[in-house]
Amino acid sequence: MAKLTLTVSDTRVETPMIRSITLTAADGGTLPPFAAGAHLKIRIPGQSEPRCYSLVCLDGDEAAFNTPSAYRLGVRLEDPSTGGSQFMHGLQAGDTLEVEGPKNDFPLHDIHANEQTVVLIAGGIGITPIASMAAALKRAGRPFILHYYGRSREQMGFLQTLAECHGDALHVHADDDAGTQLPLPDLLDQINQKQHVYVCGPKGLIDAVIEQSRNKSWPNAHLHFELFANAAPQFGDRAFEVELRQSGKVLQVPADKTILDVLEEAGCDPLYDCRRGECGVCQATVLEGTPDHRDYYLSDAERDAGDVIQICISRSHSDRLVLDL
Ligand SMILES: Cc1cc2nc3c(=O)[nH]c(=O)nc-3n(C[C@H](O)[C@H](O)[C@H](O)COP(=O)(O)OP(=O)(O)OC[C@H]3O[C@@H](n4cnc5c(N)ncnc54)[C@H](O)[C@@H]3O)c2cc1C
Repeated sequence: MAKLTLTVSDTRVETPMIRSITLTAADGGTLPPFAAGAHLKIRIPGQSEPRCYSLVCLDGDEAAFNTPSAYRLGVRLEDPSTGGSQFMHGLQAGDTLEVEGPKNDFPLHDIHANEQTVVLIAGGIGITPIASMAAALKRAGRPFILHYYGRSREQMGFLQTLAECHGDALHVHADDDAGTQLPLPDLLDQINQKQHVYVCGPKGLIDAVIEQSRNKSWPNAHLHFELFANAAPQFGDRAFEVELRQSGKVLQVPADKTILDVLEEAGCDPLYDCRRGECGVCQATVLEGTPDHRDYYLSDAERDAGDVIQICISRSHSDRLVLDL
């Protein structure tokens, strides 16, 4: 992944909670290309972990993806926040950022091959990668439909430009406008097994689409999603002990930390990438104990077997977990 120093060239208020931020190369030159779904990792002062922000491309001409003169982000101010979105909202023209990327964990598949209408579903700030997908599909001449869910039109970023770019392909569903509502189960009922579905938004939205896809036996390869959130503690989470059999270390995992956090604090150097339970890079073999799987990586059969665990997000049902690490 390229390491870049970028300059903030513009910031704009999109909605009361969303700001778009335009970044250019410090030397004003062309930036590395990217494909729809890609994000940047941005170093936040005072934070050990970078924050990821998807690249937004609304109109999608060839140059915007292949020889970009600028990157655009859309950042929602989170509350509570450990600082990432607050820092991003405080940026002003002329500020510089240390950035890695672009990286793409959420690419469009078979963009030219399959003529079925592609279904794009965005919830809230999940519109950022989905908007770029709509632009890329339009440029490729591929049929698509974009369902954009939000609390109210006033809170939905990029709405006017999306409407201008995509016309009837854009379907807006605002909670405060009964006339526009389409319950998710009704939307999912309209989708056939040959279609590809891309979804980005709150965990509840993604979980609902995954559940429905399982109920309807959609092929796994046709459902694509990206979750913006890292592991967050859930009500009822409790501490447990983890033994690393190879190194002989025994560590306590408190309720508000992940196994990965605790391993890093103990000076271990575990492999990981996404920290969201999506990529499988941090998978470890379970020798004893019962994992509490919270990932999106394992199949149902693998979860039931309980032989492996994604240590960036999953926890333990048993008081002690022994891992082959
Ligand atoms: C691939 C990827 C792409 C992304 N793209 C975008 C994008 O385009 N735009 C965008 O705005 N964001 C995007 N994000 C999210 C972004 O990286 C940050 O996570 C986000 O800005 C919040 O960071 P923060 O430090 O402000 O808040 P954090 O402290 O990380 O908190 C974020 C939210 O998590 C929840 N939370 C945090 N701590 C707890 C807790 N202890 N218990 C319960 N809930 C908790 C809260 O709801 C909180 O508001 C993306 C994330 C990923 C992984």
